[in-house]
Amino acid sequence: MQTGLCSHMQAIETIKRAKRQQCDECVKIGAQWVHLRTCQECGKTLCCDSSPNRHATKHARAIGHPVIASAEPGEYWLYCYPDDAFTEYERQGFGSPLR
Ligand SMILES: [Zn+2]
Ligand SMILES: [Zn+2]
Ligand SMILES: [Zn+2]
Repeated sequence: MQTGLCSHMQAIETIKRAKRQQCDECVKIGAQWVHLRTCQECGKTLCCDSSPNRHATKHARAIGHPVIASAEPGEYWLYCYPDDAFTEYERQGFGSPLR
């Protein structure tokens, strides 16, 4: 895993945070989740790899949306699937560009 901004992260204008604290797919099937991630391309909030259904990873692979943000309160980081890149951002940077 690398740290720092990949080209996908640099293209993000505004970091999307979860609209609701729930996995959009798990609620449809009545499944449980562990942690939540928000897709930075379409804004869907989905569950992490510790969850039984791993909806965030499935979504990234299936649709090709590269970057997710943690949707957990108090966590401020982004992860890019194709680059395996991870970066943290300033809390006050929420809603503004990463640069
Ligand atoms: Zn990337
Ligand atoms: Zn889910
Ligand atoms: Zn998406």
